[in-house]
Order: sequence, then C-alpha cells, then structure tokens
Amino acid sequence: MKPRSDPAIGVIGGSGLYELEGLTDVKWHTVRTPFGSPSDAYCVGRFAGRRVIFLPRHGRGHRVTPSELNFRANIWGLRFLGAQWVISISAVGSMKEAIRPLDLVIPDQFFDATRHRVSSFFGAGIVAHVGMAEPVCPDLATALEKAANQTGATVHRGGTYICIEGPQFSTKAESRIYRGWGVDVIGMTNMPEAKLAREAELCYATLALATDYDVWHETHETVSVETVIQNLLKNVATAKDVLRRVIPAIAPPRECQCPGLLRNAVITNPKTFPPATRRKLGLLLDKYFPGDRSRPAPVSGHPRSKPASRPPRQKPRG
Ligand SMILES: [Zn+2]
Repeated sequence: MKPRSDPAIGVIGGSGLYELEGLTDVKWHTVRTPFGSPSDAYCVGRFAGRRVIFLPRHGRGHRVTPSELNFRANIWGLRFLGAQWVISISAVGSMKEAIRPLDLVIPDQFFDATRHRVSSFFGAGIVAHVGMAEPVCPDLATALEKAANQTGATVHRGGTYICIEGPQFSTKAESRIYRGWGVDVIGMTNMPEAKLAREAELCYATLALATDYDVWHETHETVSVETVIQNLLKNVATAKDVLRRVIPAIAPPRECQCPGLLRNAVITNPKTFPPATRRKLGLLLDKYFPGDRSRPAPVSGHPRSKPASRPPRQKPRG
C-alpha cells in the first residue's frame, strides 16, 4: 500500500467518541506502520465534500490506556492515509473556576508531565529537533473556535493543557500544584500526540471538552468516574456538532507554517543517515532529502514535493 496524497482531515476521537456518523463511502483501513499498530483501523469516508479519516484513540470498545497508546503509529497512520490536519477530540478536567464542566477549550499550549512514553519518530541515527514553541496550528484552531461558537457552548480560546501519565486521576496535592503552575485543563493523551503531529508536519489542534473540576475544587464533589461519564456523553454530542461544522470549513492549500516544520529540524549529516532508518522515515524525509539515490529506494512512493532549498541548519542543543 502506498501513502495517499489526496488531502484529508484527520479526527482522533477521545473517550466516548468511537465512531463518526454521517460519513459516506466509508471504508475501514488497517495500517501497519514502521512503529507498530495504531489503536484501531482508521475509518475513512467523506463528509461535506471533504475526505475524513477517523481514529478512535483508545480503540473501539475503549481498550487501550493512555500509557499503552502507540502514539507514533496513530499519527504515522493518519499521515500515511493523507491527513494534513488532525483534530484531537479530548476529554479534560478543568483547572480554572472559569472553565466549567461542559465548556469547550481550544488550548494553544501543552505541558508534558508524562513519564513513560516514546515521543519522537527520530532516533536510531537520525536526529531532529522540531520547534514546539507554538504546538497548535493557529488556522485550524481558528476554524475550530468558529465552529465551536456556532454550537452555543461556552468556548475558551487558548490555554495550557497539562498531560499527565494516568491512568489514575491526580491526587489533591498534584492538582493544587498544577494549578499553581497556571495550567487550564488536564488530560492524559495530548502528549506526545501533539509533538508527533508536529514532526509529521500535520496541522494539529485540540477540542478539549471539560467533564469536571478535577479534584482541586472545594465545593464541587471530587471527580468520580460517574460524573465524568455523564458529562462525557453530553460532550460527545457537542463534539460531533462541532465536527459537522468545522469539517466543511477546512480546505487546502494550507497557508500556515505546519507543512514545513521539518525543513530545518534534521541536524544529522545526511551522508551519515543509517539506510534502514532513512528508509523507515521515508514518509517524513523523502521531500527534504530526495537526492539520497545511493541509498536503497524508500519503501513508500511518497510524491516528491518541494526539496529543501538549503541544507539543514545546525542547531546544537545539549
Ligand atoms: Zn497548520
């Protein structure tokens, strides 16, 4: 199977969102990636004239914990199937009084407090440092904000999402400390998902749906699975409403910086690329290192787009 080049909108469904209704020409694609298996097959279909690729993040039936997620395979598969945008639908706890349960948040920053996750496609002889200063695509976030506002829900644009390892919720001490750091919402899945989306040059934005006040709130009852699930179901309906509105608003060409994020990120001298790693990363590297003819042909037939206009900038870091 060859990578698809017709642009698609990727949607990663979080807790409670395992299927996307309303798609036509639906086919489920099982993708094997160089990084193993994604959470589930991808549901590929059409909606409002757009190609849409849906992945239930935890698998249908919710079988995979946040720590067990193969984030690399999930993002790789989306890119392989032609996704240019990724909308991450995510259940979160609110860390601010003003963000009430059932409110929608479109974060613009992340804080990675995970501990056991592989967070890069690179390594094994090829080193890249992708910028994460602005981890969210501003154009996609704006489209999400507009669509979210149309639903009548309360929408907060911007804010920091702290990603904890889970699967347990926080202790009160942890929750208080995170609040002291100034974060806005807390979840378990957007890291390293956002990092990998950047490495894959995908436009990434999160629609975070608040289910509860985590455990810090003195007058709200402590977060319980029951409360979370009740609000989760309401939020899933809202998320679907937002998706129905945002998908028709997204169309190529992308005018943001996202499609060129890797241009200056690879620091390794291409002459020293280990052939196996170079082949493995063909989906990401072919467009920047097309002259790599002495190497065995890449496994993928990715269409060559603009080659790098200058050699990678050396940017030592540690
Ligand atoms: Zn973008």
